[in-house]
Amino acid sequence: MRIVAEFAGLTDEEKKALLGKTFGIDDANRMIENVVGIWPLPLGIATNFVVNGKDVLVPMAIEEPSVVAAASNAAKIARIKGGFTAEVSGSEMIGQVQLVDVPDPETAVEKIRGAEEELLSIANSRDPVLIKFGGGAKRIEARVVDTSGGKMVVVHLVVDVKDAMGANAVNTMAEAIAHHLEDLSGGRALLRIISNLAVYRVAKARAVFDREALGGEGVVDSIIKAFALADADPYRCATHNKGIMNGVSAVVRATGNDTRAVEAGAHAYASRDGRYRSLTRYYKNEDGDLVGEIEIPVAVGVVGGATRAHPVARACIKILGVKTASELGEILAAVGLAQNLAALRALVTEGIQRGHMRLHARNIAAQAGAVGDEIDVVARKMVERGEIREDVAREILDEIREKKGSSPH
Ligand code: NAD
Repeated sequence: MRIVAEFAGLTDEEKKALLGKTFGIDDANRMIENVVGIWPLPLGIATNFVVNGKDVLVPMAIEEPSVVAAASNAAKIARIKGGFTAEVSGSEMIGQVQLVDVPDPETAVEKIRGAEEELLSIANSRDPVLIKFGGGAKRIEARVVDTSGGKMVVVHLVVDVKDAMGANAVNTMAEAIAHHLEDLSGGRALLRIISNLAVYRVAKARAVFDREALGGEGVVDSIIKAFALADADPYRCATHNKGIMNGVSAVVRATGNDTRAVEAGAHAYASRDGRYRSLTRYYKNEDGDLVGEIEIPVAVGVVGGATRAHPVARACIKILGVKTASELGEILAAVGLAQNLAALRALVTEGIQRGHMRLHARNIAAQAGAVGDEIDVVARKMVERGEIREDVAREILDEIREKKGSSPH
């Protein structure tokens, strides 16, 4: 904590926030409805990340053991060859308006395209603050979609949301233009909402992973084979992409962003060519090192939503040292790639369970009834025995309690 606070220049208030001391029930009550309590999560820091030449400490809020350690390990390997390079394609989000009962859908599409300027100006009148920051509605796309409910016109309002995630901004604009779209099309505007398939906000990251640090040529070749299966088979790919999101969602959550929005976007993007595919890809370079690349939509902000309202999110954004949503997106892509590489490396070598269960041992000990200091003792003994199971935890717990002379549970 001290090192992180010094690195990021955290204030005493921000340090208190990280320790969970500033977010109270009143804050929770302001955020959602029917609040009865607060559900705390561990916040860890992934280390060794270099993104675009800059050292970054990465806060991750997650309940699953081994994710933070795995990301840090992969980042350490990437660091040997300079770390991650990353970029984000832009900050535009799509607001959709569905028009039903349109008498002549093809003509309506032409009319809507012709009215682009007035539609944009209606939309932009709704968010002067966004306009001030250089954002706003930029263009209109319209097409006919043939559905089980008949032909519909779907209008996309493309909005540059700058440093916000943008859902509220875009939804407000989509609602604002709906009435005019009804006039233009002669139909009825039904849904007016953002699309989470953020194709104009895609982060790309790349890293070279040193062959020797990975464990040699055999490991490099095996990782490429493991990737090939994920890219070919949805059963494997769901787990492969889930592993990517272990890292991405943990950072999205830590920064107060919407995990579901990013996850929905990622999985939809993975299916964009009609088949569910890997968000990462791997190949060997001429030196025999492993090159990893990721492409993932990153609908996140550093303003808006809970990013400024939640004290821990604010502190995490400060730790990351990001000023713009794009910088945050770059780090998310790097983390996703690191997380994936770590999982693939473990899977093709010792298997995922050895490291995972070692780190999960304390949860098993607690589940078996260990409390306080007992948790670490039981976990350590299970790891020593190479048997990390609840029945073993109970047995060890009984032994240590008997030794201590206290009654077993
Ligand atoms: P928001 O409305 O809280 O903040 C965005 C606003 O901040 C902008 O409209 C702008 O007026 C202002 N702003 C100030 N400085 C800015 C800058 N530098 N760049 C851009 N805008 C700036 O939040 P939002 O980002 O519009 O919406 C995010 C929230 O919407 C999240 O909480 C999310 O969970 C929620 N949400 C998501 C969905 C979805 O994903 N499908 C749907 C509805 C709501």
